[in-house]
Amino acid sequence: MTEMVRKITLSRAVRIMQNLFPEEYNFYPRSWILPDEFQLFVAQVRMVKDGDPSWKPTFIVKPDSGCQGDGIYLIKDPSDIRLAGTLQSRPAVVQEYICKPLLIDKLKFDIRLYVLLKSLEPLEIYIAKDGLSRFCTEPYQEPHPRNLHHIFMHLTNYSLNIHSGNFVHSDSTSTGSKRTFSSILCRLSSKGVDIKKVWSDIISLVIKTVIALTPELRVFYQSDIPAGRPGPTCFQILGFDILLMKNLKPILLEVNANPSMRIEHEQELSPGVFENVPSLVDEEVKVAVIRDTLRLMDPFKKKRENHFPDIYMDRKHRFPPVSDRMSSLKLQLSKLSIVRSQQLGKPLASKEEPPDSDLASASAGGASPEGHLPSICLKQVFPKYAKQFNYLRLVDRMANLFIRFLGIKGTMKLGPTGFRTFIRNCKLSSGSLSMAAVDILYIDITRRWNSMTVVHQDSEIGPGLPWWHSG
Ligand code: ADP
Repeated sequence: MTEMVRKITLSRAVRIMQNLFPEEYNFYPRSWILPDEFQLFVAQVRMVKDGDPSWKPTFIVKPDSGCQGDGIYLIKDPSDIRLAGTLQSRPAVVQEYICKPLLIDKLKFDIRLYVLLKSLEPLEIYIAKDGLSRFCTEPYQEPHPRNLHHIFMHLTNYSLNIHSGNFVHSDSTSTGSKRTFSSILCRLSSKGVDIKKVWSDIISLVIKTVIALTPELRVFYQSDIPAGRPGPTCFQILGFDILLMKNLKPILLEVNANPSMRIEHEQELSPGVFENVPSLVDEEVKVAVIRDTLRLMDPFKKKRENHFPDIYMDRKHRFPPVSDRMSSLKLQLSKLSIVRSQQLGKPLASKEEPPDSDLASASAGGASPEGHLPSICLKQVFPKYAKQFNYLRLVDRMANLFIRFLGIKGTMKLGPTGFRTFIRNCKLSSGSLSMAAVDILYIDITRRWNSMTVVHQDSEIGPGLPWWHSG
């Protein structure tokens, strides 16, 4: 997963989908991979500028392996890219900069949403109904050569803005430099914004992004956990970073495989003296995400539901069942939440629900035996809305075919024999396509793959025919 959501891999996965479904995937800024696509970047920008001389774009350069705003800078022209030496050693993504973000209190902000990928096969996605909004600390101005280097104006990273003198730690979840997303929605709603539509667009963005990531994930997954053998049940909590444009369209910035689950922050008590203090807003959002993830992933829940009391009892006598341990954790967490809600001066039961639209009113996963616990924050969106999105799972089906014909389980590469079997089983070899022609086709695709970029050759996959070329 970490590999899949790196900036370059994510850009490539989304681009495959953008090529197939341009309208559906226009929530991701146009991106180029550096250094490989530098010439393409220059040529495409020149072409658009020639056609429309009034176009004055800004681009954002982000190192592939960077995080927390590290190494990011803005440019007005491709010639401003700091190519000298660095890009060879540090590949990057250059991306169209969204110049007109939605502002609140004149400040740019982004949204961190937590998404649980509960299972790959079948695909199950849950979205947390509240997230974090992280604010810049300098009033926003559209990019101009004079302000491009103002990181507190353009980058919303908490890790950067915390160092600004203007950063506001707040005891409330609806003020300060880090707030709950629900407090933003509440504010927008009071101004007449259709927040059901905003939620619905965000949910679509999340589902489409996961659909873009799953084909390659499936290939990685089968090489570690071959099909048909009982393996561990994997899940992942992903952090989606989303920007709302002025016209309220959500834009995907990036996906984090290991989102921070810290619920405290550093506070400078006196110059140079720091202390970790609880962060109310982090706690409000993150505790609920972890609690619901544990609840959903509880392996004993399924066994209980499937009426296997023997296994359950057997294990129960050997060690305390996970559910018991979880119950104790849940109790602690719910106590924590109650304390917090009392501090907030509102009962948890009245905790704000996100807007319910057709798409946004996603249901929670299954009836919960722990009905006394506070409302469930993770909402199932897939397969609940599968019907609306299944037509996008074209590459997923390609990956399934690829996996099926790999031959030896646990590999990432389709060999010549597998390719032949694929052609034969799919009845693709006919009078016009002989087996000799199939072999030549295989060699041709493999050669094209091998001559591809350093970035790909360096990846874990190594030489051979990776799944995305089998199409
Ligand atoms: P990192 O992993 O280093 O945090 P991000 O892709 O999240 O990298 O970018 C850092 C910040 O830069 C984002 O939080 C956002 O504020 C800003 N940003 C990133 N991409 C864009 C973009 N295409 N348009 C506008 N702002 C962006």
